[in-house]
Amino acid sequence: MSRIPNRIFAILILVLLPCTESLFAQDAIRVVTTTPDLADIVRQVGGSRVDVTSLTRGSEDLHKVRPRPRLLNTLFRADALVQIGLDLEHSWLPQLLNAARNPKIRPGSPGFINCSAGIEPLDIPEAITRKEGPDLHIKGNPHYNLSPIQGRKIVTNVIEGLCLQSPQYCEEYRTRGNEYLKTLDKKIAEWKERLKPLKGAAFIEYHPTWSYFAKDFGLLIVDRIESKAGVTPQAAHIAKVVEIANQKNVGLIISRPANKDLALKVASNCNANVVVLPYLSSTTGTLQGYIPFMEIVVSTFEKNLKLAKR
Ligand SMILES: [Zn+2]
Repeated sequence: MSRIPNRIFAILILVLLPCTESLFAQDAIRVVTTTPDLADIVRQVGGSRVDVTSLTRGSEDLHKVRPRPRLLNTLFRADALVQIGLDLEHSWLPQLLNAARNPKIRPGSPGFINCSAGIEPLDIPEAITRKEGPDLHIKGNPHYNLSPIQGRKIVTNVIEGLCLQSPQYCEEYRTRGNEYLKTLDKKIAEWKERLKPLKGAAFIEYHPTWSYFAKDFGLLIVDRIESKAGVTPQAAHIAKVVEIANQKNVGLIISRPANKDLALKVASNCNANVVVLPYLSSTTGTLQGYIPFMEIVVSTFEKNLKLAKR
């Protein structure tokens, strides 16, 4: 048998490698998620059956994502789309979906997975007008991913959604999803135990973000630095926040990177620590993965909260 010369062999490898890669890629279902939290959960449930891309990195404000060509291209090629819902992505996702014209991921199709199904929204506003601020949560608070108990519903919605999208792998999705739920349940029990001594402790947030987390662990959000959703607060409002922080013995002010200065201004007049904490896990760094991210969240509260003075 004649031997293939090394040079020709190397060229063949170079030519064929992209083909074999695309064969594998064709097997995997292309799932696009709006957040890294959802991407991690889809990977946990879908395993090697899914090829997952998050449209955002975790550092952006999900109320204000800039629709750009890369996002459009990703949606154009997707077999399934997983969203948080409750209008979190209202300012950018609908227009991208319109432009992508991909029938597989249109709302109502099996490839459109809405993780807010079955979530009972907190903080539904009395006034339902965007005059109350551009980032007003008209359908209630969409930041339910910060509750590990609501996180269970994300997992079950992802299992059911992937089963509808590719029924041939449903058993696999259920097995992997249920294993992940067991791990999450163990962590929830541990987190509850750790935060139990701090039940009733007060904290301040910038934007209405942490309501579900506070409910899970019996903590109190006593004020918000933002008076209108998405609008920079006036000095009089900041003064009121400082007064409440002192009255309620607030130990922790949770801020976003963009609003740290205002949070520090409040903290300089009371006895609280400012911690910059995103409201999503990240695609890179130490905040990767839903459970590892929630572990950092719980540790942050554990280290900084103080009980009210008696
Ligand atoms: Zn929000």
